[in-house]
Amino acid sequence: MQIPRNPTRAVPVGSVTIGAGNPIVVQSMCATKTTHVEATVEQIERLWVAGAGIVRVAVDNRADARALAEIRRRTGANLSVDLQENYRLAEQVAPWVDKIRYNPGHLYHHEPQRAWQDKVRAIVDAAADGDCALRVGVNCGSVDPAKRPKYADDDLINPMLESAWDHCELLDSIGFTRYCVSLKDSDPARVVAANHRFAGQRPDVPLHLGVTEAGMPPEGVFKTRRALEPLLADGIGDTLRVSLTVPNARKQEEVEAGLQILADLAAGRLSTAAGAEAAAEPTGLDIISCPSCSRVENERFVELAGEIREMTRYAAACPITIAVMGCRVNGPGETDHADLGVWCGPRHVRLKRGTEVVGSFDYDEILGRLKTELDRLIASRNASPQ
Ligand code: SF4
Repeated sequence: MQIPRNPTRAVPVGSVTIGAGNPIVVQSMCATKTTHVEATVEQIERLWVAGAGIVRVAVDNRADARALAEIRRRTGANLSVDLQENYRLAEQVAPWVDKIRYNPGHLYHHEPQRAWQDKVRAIVDAAADGDCALRVGVNCGSVDPAKRPKYADDDLINPMLESAWDHCELLDSIGFTRYCVSLKDSDPARVVAANHRFAGQRPDVPLHLGVTEAGMPPEGVFKTRRALEPLLADGIGDTLRVSLTVPNARKQEEVEAGLQILADLAAGRLSTAAGAEAAAEPTGLDIISCPSCSRVENERFVELAGEIREMTRYAAACPITIAVMGCRVNGPGETDHADLGVWCGPRHVRLKRGTEVVGSFDYDEILGRLKTELDRLIASRNASPQ
């Protein structure tokens, strides 16, 4: 089945081109420590062999940036780098990668007195010198703080869109058009709405599709399909990632899931049209969990996410959201919209009820504490008048 695609610009990334009618590129991201060169190269190769057209690696500091130079020497994969908060590393990493991803919401963490436009210009200079493409990667949990107060608390779409449009306008005005945009959220319906609106206004800009913190398979794949299938069927999206919480040895499942979505789409097998399990809107308990990355400080994170899924099965029918995040940096923000949230540090796990921190607990006691909070929440909801 040939689906007409949006007439997007061509964005070359190493040996592949995103947009302009080229085959949709499936991406994935390493969850190894970037400074563990051996393990990272091994994971890159596994993802590449599985069919990833681009593999992303996170860079947090100068040691990671130095490791990237060695990683580049050892792999022929098309590499993208995630700058996380540290935009100043762009110059250091650009010679070793094919694409740089920055998050507009993270540009405020360092040098808050410096205008975001200057920071983007610095990233653009590095990308142009290094022959790299860019991705403006907007996430619902980390938008430009200046955008939030303009909209209602529960409006998560407009701040994301405004942020993306502002950055596109700036990049275009600089004359740097080798970029794509992503608008990710953990809620598939919001991903569909945000990408539809963006594509309506900027059909020329290639879109990287994905549901952030989709969680563990198979639910994480179903959730991703609910967002990606309707978008792809409308000709929206030039590259995609299925973000899954899986152990390092199973990371290639992200690529396999992405390729399967594209194969099903080409064969006209849309699960969202067929009313299959993948299409069913979850009405009960929803666990959102991050795919992990080099920032995970305790490898028990993935195991813990699985244990939380098992422990909470008794509450499957309750419309409650639990967020499980792998690190202290993004954990606090990314759990804000969940009813209960946990994020993992090296030795302790923080527990949150809404935006309020309940406390910090050992890995061995967190399940019990989370269950106590879950039971309280269920009881309070049962007690409140309908
Ligand atoms: S929440 Fe932290 S560990 Fe998880 S993917 Fe995001 S940055 Fe990486």
